[in-house]
Amino acid sequence: MTTSGGPAGPGRHFDARGCLTPAGFAALARAPAGRGPAELAAHLASCARCQEHMLASAVGGSAGGTPRRRRPPRLWLGIGMAFVALLLAIAAVILAARLH
Ligand SMILES: [Zn+2]
Repeated sequence: MTTSGGPAGPGRHFDARGCLTPAGFAALARAPAGRGPAELAAHLASCARCQEHMLASAVGGSAGGTPRRRRPPRLWLGIGMAFVALLLAIAAVILAARLH
């Protein structure tokens, strides 16, 4: 019962830093929701690095390995800011109307 750890066996889900390896992410992705490996899910829930890694791989798409960086989300950020500013302006008007 010696678990010395093979080079790249199916049980090799954590790397030297204790974070999930691609094999670990694959195991999580393969497993049905709620029935994934408890170790991997517990680590993912408590590790920001692995969460970012998983989000990045999910956003980047499964096809290819190049992340999409051609369109920075500045446009959406600007629209969001304008929307928030509009809401604030409306709230200010309502407040002013109530005060007077
Ligand atoms: Zn981690």
